[in-house]
Amino acid sequence: MNSLKQFHTFQLNHYANDVVKITSEDDFKALVGQILNKDFVLVGSGSNTLFLENLAIPLYVNEYLGKTLFEDNDFYYIDVNSGENWHSLVSWSLENEVYGLENLALIPGTVGAAPIQNIGAYGVEVNQFIDSVVYIDLVSGEINSLTNLECNFGYRDSIFKHELATNSIILTVRFKLPKEWSPVLEYGELKNLECPTPISIFNEVCSIRNSKLPDPMIIGNAGSFFKNPIITKLELNRVTELFPSLPSYPLKDGTFKIAAGWLIDKAGLKGKEFGNVRVNPKQALVLTNHNGEAQGQDVVLAANKIIDTVYSTFGIKLEPEVRFFNKDKEVTLADYYAS
Ligand SMILES: Cc1cc2nc3c(=O)[nH]c(=O)nc-3n(C[C@H](O)[C@H](O)[C@H](O)COP(=O)(O)OP(=O)(O)OC[C@H]3O[C@@H](n4cnc5c(N)ncnc54)[C@H](O)[C@@H]3O)c2cc1C
Repeated sequence: MNSLKQFHTFQLNHYANDVVKITSEDDFKALVGQILNKDFVLVGSGSNTLFLENLAIPLYVNEYLGKTLFEDNDFYYIDVNSGENWHSLVSWSLENEVYGLENLALIPGTVGAAPIQNIGAYGVEVNQFIDSVVYIDLVSGEINSLTNLECNFGYRDSIFKHELATNSIILTVRFKLPKEWSPVLEYGELKNLECPTPISIFNEVCSIRNSKLPDPMIIGNAGSFFKNPIITKLELNRVTELFPSLPSYPLKDGTFKIAAGWLIDKAGLKGKEFGNVRVNPKQALVLTNHNGEAQGQDVVLAANKIIDTVYSTFGIKLEPEVRFFNKDKEVTLADYYAS
């Protein structure tokens, strides 16, 4: 039996019979004919994954490495295999004087998982720099490429959570970064940077993240546990009448993004413990396995308690950003709780 603690950053105390490392395209080809997250589970770093039970199907761990840098007149391109570590890619690109990814420093995980939920932080989403994504079709065995537009990127969303959720594995991501660099500084503390450079933004992002977020190597967590809700103007008016200080960010389509961490905090849950799971006292959007003893049941109870309390306080339903697995497939929190 292999402990699953080392394969997901929340470090829940469960086990798997079968753990296999993937290191080549041929290893992925051998999975054709099977269904992702049903016949087997694939993780990169497991930083968005929670194993709620012992796993009865094989776990594959993506260690498919390699990257190539090339350029034309206006852009740098980097082709990166999906098992590469995301933060190492960001550091490596800066070392090679290729700029743009600095706001996304220190996000845990692999390059292959980055397009799936369109990782984002500090005013930047990864889709802004993705040119195309190459994946293997697990039904036909074909290797296909999708353009940025075809990936249907949205807030923590892409085609890989929908039409291609169970029938494809991302092999390689092509990044396209303009040679003419423009800093993104609209987020909080970054606004105060004088004469910003890619390196100073990178350093500042790393320092803010280190001060606010628990290091998953020390305290198990999966970063933001819930998505920031997107609500209509009508809903926003209803909530701000009662809670005028609710922070909200207007989106291009007329809706508003509101801070899930603020809702959890104002609902009185910051720092609260539910069994072996704690709402982080510094950043309420992060749940932690604070004593290393948490099991799936603790997480399910904590998450449901938070969803219910926020709903009864604000009338807004939080949705998990993290993904859950029971013994043999991916499950939603609601289905798991009901079962
Ligand atoms: C401390 C902390 C901070 C975080 N901060 C942020 C943040 O600022 N912004 C943000 O967006 N996210 C953040 N996250 C979430 C996480 O870093 C991202 O979701 C990351 O992209 C997950 O990568 P991973 O390799 O760990 O994915 P995993 O958890 O291993 O996998 C996630 C899902 O994707 C599937 N998958 C993985 N690789 C592939 C592939 N190659 N092909 C097909 N399917 C695949 C898996 O089956 C699984 O269902 C944070 C997490 C932590 C722990």
